[in-house]
Amino acid sequence: MDRDGTLSHEVGYVNHPSRFRLYSYSVDAVRLVNQAGFLAVVVTNQAGVARGYFPESLVRTIHDAMTALMEAGGARLDGVYYCPHHPSVGEAPYRQDCDCRKPRPGLLRRAAAELDLDLARSWVIGDRHGDLQLAWNVGARGALVKSGYGLGELAYHAPKWPRQPDLTAEHLLEAVRRIPDRSAAKEVRA
Ligand SMILES: [Mg+2]
Ligand SMILES: [Zn+2]
Repeated sequence: MDRDGTLSHEVGYVNHPSRFRLYSYSVDAVRLVNQAGFLAVVVTNQAGVARGYFPESLVRTIHDAMTALMEAGGARLDGVYYCPHHPSVGEAPYRQDCDCRKPRPGLLRRAAAELDLDLARSWVIGDRHGDLQLAWNVGARGALVKSGYGLGELAYHAPKWPRQPDLTAEHLLEAVRRIPDRSAAKEVRA
C-alpha cells in the first residue's frame, strides 16, 4: 500500500505529525488485509527529506504513530518502507539516483527479501500511476484508488496509459474487499 492519498489524506508534504490523518476506513482495510492472509506493507516516497522540508526522524515518528493507530484498531502493518531520496534536489546522502524511489522497485525488493513476499501474487494499491508502475515493475498487480490523486489520474491521464489498472476502486477498503483473498486463491489452485 501507498501511504499518502491511499492510507492517509493527501495533504501535500506531511511536515508535521499534526498533518498526518488516516482515512476513516484505513484501519478496517488493513485488518481485512491481515485476515485475508496477505502481508500488509506500506511503501512511500518521502522526498521532502531530500528537499530539506523535514527531517528523516519525522518520517519515522509518523510511521510509529501510524503503526500504533493500526494496532489500537486490531490491524497489523507487517512492514513500512520509505524512500527519502530525490535524484536532483538537496544534498548527499539524500540527493541520489536511488533504486528505491517509486516506481523503481527497491522498496518492494527489500520488503520481499525481509518478509519473504511473493511479489507475483502481491498487489500494490495506490492513488498514482507510479504506484501501478511499481506493481508492474516487480510483476505484481496494481490497484488504483480514487482517493488522493486517484480521481484526477483517472480523469486526465488514464486514457493515455498503455496499460490500465488491474483494479480500480473508490478507496482502499473497497480495493481490499475486491482483491481475492490468499486462502481462496490457494483453494482454487489446489
Ligand atoms: Mg499517494
Ligand atoms: Zn530512494
